[in-house]
Amino acid sequence: MPGTRPDIDRLPVSLGRRSYDILIGDGLIAEAGRHLAPVLRSPRVVVVTDANVADVALDGLTASLDAAAIAHDRIVLPAGEGTKDFTHLEQVITDILDLGIDRKTSLIALGGGVIGDLTGVVAALTLRGLDFIQIPTTLLAQVDSSVGGKTGINTRHGKNLVGAFHQPRLVLADTAVLDHLPARELRAGYAELVKYGVIDRPDFFNWLEDGNGTALLAGDAAARRHAIRTSCAAKAAIVAADETEQGQRALLNLGHTFGHALEAETGFGDALLHGESVAIGMVMALTLSTRLGLCTGNDVARLRDHLAALGLPCDVSGLDTSGWTAAGLVAHMDKDKKTEQGKLTFILARGIGTAFIETDVARDQVAAVLEEFLTG
Ligand code: NAD
Repeated sequence: MPGTRPDIDRLPVSLGRRSYDILIGDGLIAEAGRHLAPVLRSPRVVVVTDANVADVALDGLTASLDAAAIAHDRIVLPAGEGTKDFTHLEQVITDILDLGIDRKTSLIALGGGVIGDLTGVVAALTLRGLDFIQIPTTLLAQVDSSVGGKTGINTRHGKNLVGAFHQPRLVLADTAVLDHLPARELRAGYAELVKYGVIDRPDFFNWLEDGNGTALLAGDAAARRHAIRTSCAAKAAIVAADETEQGQRALLNLGHTFGHALEAETGFGDALLHGESVAIGMVMALTLSTRLGLCTGNDVARLRDHLAALGLPCDVSGLDTSGWTAAGLVAHMDKDKKTEQGKLTFILARGIGTAFIETDVARDQVAAVLEEFLTG
C-alpha cells in the first residue's frame, strides 16, 4: 500500500467528506504518482508550477506520473508574489480550458505558497470546482499554506482578498525538495514553525530551542519530518475545529496583524519576506502582551533569542524605516481583512504556548508598541 515506507508519515486532516491526508517524507515527489493514483477521479492531471520549482522538481514529478500511467500537462508561471493576481488567474483558467479538461481532471500545485494559493483559486472556480493536490516545495508551504484549504490572490486593495475555502485531496510534503530552497526562504518558513510552538505547543518550542531547529535548517531529514508533522498536526487540529475561521482558526494569525502592516509598508517585496514579517510580528505581539500585563518579559526574550539564533529578524533594524510612523502602520491594520467593525483583533499570549484571541485592542496601546520598535 502506498505510504507504508517507515520513513513516511501519514497525517489525516479530519473534515468530514472533505478529509484528506498529508504525507511527509524524503523523496515523495519521485514517487508521487503512486500516492496520487488512489485519490484521482481520473488518471489525468494538470501541473501548475513556477519557473524556479520547474527547474528542480518538475522532471521528477512527471517521471513518477508517467510511471503511474497518469496523463499530465504543465503550466509554468513566473516565480514571485506578482503571480498571485487576476491576470494570472485568468491566464491559468484559460490555459486549462484550452487543454480540454473535464470535471474529473485534477490540478497539482507544485510550488510554494504563491503557486498553492493561486492554483487553489483556479481549482475552486474552474468548472465550478476541480480536485487539486498540493505538493508544497517551500518550508512555509509545507507547514502552513498547503494545509487548511485557504486559497487566494492579491488585488490592488490588498493581499489575499479574493479566494475561496477549497480543501486539497492530498498533500505531499517532500522534505528533500527543501534542499534546493534558498537559505533565506527556508529560514522565513521556519518562523511559521515557531508560531505553532508559541500558539499552543510549548513542548515543540522547547524541542526547537534544544538544537533541533538548527538541525532541521541544516538539512536533518528526521528533524524536518518531525517538525513538519507537528506543525501540520497543530494546524489541522485548529482547522478541523473551525474550518472557515468563525473563531479559533484566527489563532493561526499570531504575528500576522503586525506582520502584514510591515509587509504593506515595504510593498510586499523582497525587503521583507512573509515569514520574516511573521517573526517580527510575533515578537511585537508578545511585547504587546507584556505591556498589557499578560506575559513576562522573559517570554519575549526567549522568543527573540531563538529567532535571532536561527538568523531571523526580530525587530525593524534591518529595514529602511525612514518615513514610517506608528499611525501609518496602524492604518495598514485598519485595512486588513482581519479587522472587523473597526476593532483591531490581535493574537496575544499569556506565555509561550498559551495564545488567545483578543478582539478589541486599543489602538493607542498598539501604536505605543510600534513606536517602541521604530525608535529602537
Ligand atoms: P513562494 O511561493 O513565492 O516561494 C518562494 C520562492 O522560492 C519563489 O521564488 C519560488 O520560486 C522558490 N521556490 C519554491 N520552492 C523551491 C524549491 N524547492 N527550490 C528552489 N526554489 C523554490 O513563497 P512562499 O513563502 O512559499 O509562500 C508565500 C505565499 O503563501 C504568500 O502569498 C502568502 O500569502 C501565502 N500563504 C498562504 C497561506 C494559506 O493558508 N493559504 C498561509 C501562509 C502564507
